[in-house]
Amino acid sequence: MFNKELYQYFSQTETPFYFYDMGLFNESLKKLKQAAGKYDYLVHYAIKANANDPILKAVKKIGFGADCVSGNEVRKAIETGIKPDKIVFAGVGKSDAEINYAIDKSIFSFNSESIEEIEVINEWGIEKQKIVPVSLRLNPDIDAITHKYLTTGLPENKFGIPLSFLGKVIRRMGDLSNVNLIGLHFHIGSQIRELSPYIQLCEKVNMIQDILFDEYGIELDHINLGGGLGINYENPDDELIPDYANFFDTIHTHLKKRKNQKVHFELGRSVVGQTGSLISRVLYIKKGINKEFMILDAGMTDLIRPALYGAQHKIQNISKPEAQIKNFKYDVVGPVCESSDSFDDNVMLPMTKRGDLVAIRSTGAYGEIMVSQYTLRNKPGAIYSDEIKVKNEKPVFSKERVS
Ligand SMILES: *Cc1c(COP(=O)(O)O)cnc(C)c1O
Repeated sequence: MFNKELYQYFSQTETPFYFYDMGLFNESLKKLKQAAGKYDYLVHYAIKANANDPILKAVKKIGFGADCVSGNEVRKAIETGIKPDKIVFAGVGKSDAEINYAIDKSIFSFNSESIEEIEVINEWGIEKQKIVPVSLRLNPDIDAITHKYLTTGLPENKFGIPLSFLGKVIRRMGDLSNVNLIGLHFHIGSQIRELSPYIQLCEKVNMIQDILFDEYGIELDHINLGGGLGINYENPDDELIPDYANFFDTIHTHLKKRKNQKVHFELGRSVVGQTGSLISRVLYIKKGINKEFMILDAGMTDLIRPALYGAQHKIQNISKPEAQIKNFKYDVVGPVCESSDSFDDNVMLPMTKRGDLVAIRSTGAYGEIMVSQYTLRNKPGAIYSDEIKVKNEKPVFSKERVS
């Protein structure tokens, strides 16, 4: 993944920084577009995974919409040039300011998850004399078979409207003058590596659609199945681009789409996850009792997923040839004053020394976007493969940094 020239460039660059393989990202977008296009499925990129300008520009260019979970994400999508009629806005608690802004911009859909919020949206609709399009985010009670912090479709999660409330919500919406029910929305979790939860979701959606039609005579224009498709964190190079074709084929097989109904997806991690790596320098190899700590210049402020969810990323010493035997064991940690500032324990690597460069792989999604400046640390840099033009000259790292 990192050739000699790139390695040279890295070794002259201040660490830590995120490196984005834009060739891979564009290829992933293209594959996704082809696979979704086969069934006329619509894709809204989930901005919260990575909202860097070059990433969003590529998303816009390929023609995807945006899945937003805050007012500022809606603003960012619009500033990027994504048309409001391709923007969906989800979230369990939208503020009045956010609702106002999104109504003013005439976005495609508010994905709403409580009657309490829909009532507020309706009030603002009356105030602005607009009919506001709303989709109901339902909690389908499906186990996404993923980390407990990444599952969202179970009754104990705060997300979605319980299925048993559906009738009541629909009747109440009938009394509200300025909201228009346009669809149903689901998002069952993230980093879902099996297709069985999606098959279950399709079956639930089929059942819900039958009930809606039989009991209320309702056929909705839009079904949104959310995101959540997982990536291969253990062996990223085996699966740099997820098998979108198989994913959509499976959905197509199991979802009973109504006539003229549009089906939407909100993929984040699967699109951008493998395209990013966090590049860091080894500060020290510290001897401990019966173990060695590899202390990096990157920490939890640069990548919080391991501390937050116990996520594991592949860690590579890119100063050592790939082929070299990995017969040294390290606890790989950051420099921040928290015990949870650790990337992984007992990582087998070639013998590593101070100054070596390390790549923490598959960090394109939920990496840089979650950066914090706890302990007043600098933010990591960002380098995009298509911006590196230099061959033999000393590369210029243009991003402004506080030293
Ligand atoms: C986070 C989120 C997504 C994207 O999830 P991924 O696992 O990154 O695909 C999609 N829809 C909603 C509502 C979300 O909150």
